Amino acid sequence: MNLLPRAVRRATRVALCAAIFALSVTAFAQSATVVYTVSLASPEQHLIEVRITLPEGAAQRDLQLPVWNALYQIRDFAQYVNWVHATDPAGKPLPVRKLETSRWQIQNAQGGAVVDYQIYADSPSPFGAQLNPHHAFLNLAEILMYPADARSTPLRLHLDHLSEGWRVATPLPASDGGFSAENYDRLVDSPVEIGNFQESDFEEAGGHFRVIVDAEAGDYDMERIVAALHKITASATAWMNDRPFDTYMFFYHFPRGPAGGGMEHAYSTAIDLNADVVKQRPDALAGVTAHEFFHLWNVKRIRPQTLEPIDYTRENYTRALWFSEGVTSTAEGIIQLRAGLLDEKQYLDRLGEEITELERRPAHLTQSAEESSLDAWLEGDAYYRRPERSISYYNKGELLGVMLDLAVREASHGQASLREVLQWMNTNYAKKGRFFADSAGVREAAEAVSHADLGWFFTSYVAGSGEVPWDDFFRSVGLRVEQLSNTVADPGFMASRNFDAPMSVGAVTPGGEAERAGLQVGDAILEIQGKPAGQESRQQLSRLNPGDVLTLRVRGRRAVERELKWKVGGRQEIAYEVTDLDQVTAAQRSRRTAWLKGEAQTAADSSAADHPGTNQPITNQPAGAALK
Ligand SMILES: [Zn+2]
Repeated sequence: MNLLPRAVRRATRVALCAAIFALSVTAFAQSATVVYTVSLASPEQHLIEVRITLPEGAAQRDLQLPVWNALYQIRDFAQYVNWVHATDPAGKPLPVRKLETSRWQIQNAQGGAVVDYQIYADSPSPFGAQLNPHHAFLNLAEILMYPADARSTPLRLHLDHLSEGWRVATPLPASDGGFSAENYDRLVDSPVEIGNFQESDFEEAGGHFRVIVDAEAGDYDMERIVAALHKITASATAWMNDRPFDTYMFFYHFPRGPAGGGMEHAYSTAIDLNADVVKQRPDALAGVTAHEFFHLWNVKRIRPQTLEPIDYTRENYTRALWFSEGVTSTAEGIIQLRAGLLDEKQYLDRLGEEITELERRPAHLTQSAEESSLDAWLEGDAYYRRPERSISYYNKGELLGVMLDLAVREASHGQASLREVLQWMNTNYAKKGRFFADSAGVREAAEAVSHADLGWFFTSYVAGSGEVPWDDFFRSVGLRVEQLSNTVADPGFMASRNFDAPMSVGAVTPGGEAERAGLQVGDAILEIQGKPAGQESRQQLSRLNPGDVLTLRVRGRRAVERELKWKVGGRQEIAYEVTDLDQVTAAQRSRRTAWLKGEAQTAADSSAADHPGTNQPITNQPAGAALK
């Protein structure tokens, strides 16, 4: 629907450009619309030229380029702005004064202004903006300044000087040969892919879905992707009993090099995954897709108050990412289970891995899920990512989502679950245009659907950093957590990935083999065992055995690449596994089925649920906080 017909655009490229300008000048008097014209004439140089046509208004107009977008990281996109000029509608130059790193002021603009600037864009990934001879993928907040006094007015976007044969895909509605948005926030929540992509579409649950793939034709199977998307979208909309859109778009890039990540938007998602991973691990694509799709509710519509209004000039501090991100990962698992894309064993194995990841980080006893959310802005820093310094709100949040599900089920005798918590928030916040009060808002929903006081859960495990008594939560579904001790490979370093950047080395064991081989903190890891580092790297490292030779290609601080090789050592390591209790009762089995498959519990199960011994209350509750 948003595709510009190829032949039409080619024939009218130059004429259209002139016409847009004339139109926007004459439109000054009647319309308060801000018009952006984005020229993609220099793909080899990765240079984008932007023209902002401002309607008449105040004499002094400030233009602000966001310092962050989507990723909770300050990235200062203004570093890429080469120059800024302005004229009045008649072409007479207007004074432009730079006020701050990311803010410019135009003088004498009462009659309107035409602001031109050039910006460099060569950052691949769903979180970036990139123009090159192959394509353009744009997160518009990274290239478009907004008028500080008109962020909420309607906007139009025109794309200009597209390379021969390029088409456009974006969730923005088409308008006047370009696109429109009701305000800047909506505009920049709509990614744009421009190039020679492949497209497919399908209907599911009454909605229309478009699938845009930019990758080598032999690297993926569109039919297989669409088949998985049918299952994921059906499962998620059924779980939420809601479909708050008519059309939704999936943007996929499958590069041959390092890649991995997804970015959620209200009406779309953009996902990058390494081409080998797409071929070899369809579950990886399904997982990230289910996660990003579920975000259309959780975070885009069921939204914490602390993320609104978006402050593009500095951090929005929030304690809610354990829920907005972590519980989205919980839902990702549930959606895949119910779609038949994960079975019980795979799901429980995954929970074991998540528990292992949390328990192995000493910081799980010093940093709470809320504090980890608040510190999201530090995730770009290697020291912060050390296991003794921080936990991940994805990791602990996902586990808290599972524990909250079990706690609500137990407190409500199987009458409510995490599903009802999210549906309650969807009805009482999202549908009413309200934002929720971070953890207190989640607690409000959980208590409303369970009719129980769940303060102990939020105090101890969300705001607090106490050890989570896993067995007490899992007992009602006949499971427990087992500790296993193994001798495992020790590569001699810790690395983590920083979303749009390559994996980087955060710590090197002093005196270890990695250090002797020359690995340094801050090295970017480009390849592991000859394969590009990316989404799969953690699994690749976890498959090593003591004595194996590890080969890394890294790039150091001075951009010098080197290849390092060493023999990995071994160390004792505790791992956790979620496993059956010695005796699983029929009631526990039935509750487990209800939990994992969404089947209703029978009356017999509910009565068994009250039987002492099969359903002991969760410990660590403060005295007097008995379940109602
Ligand atoms: Zn997410």
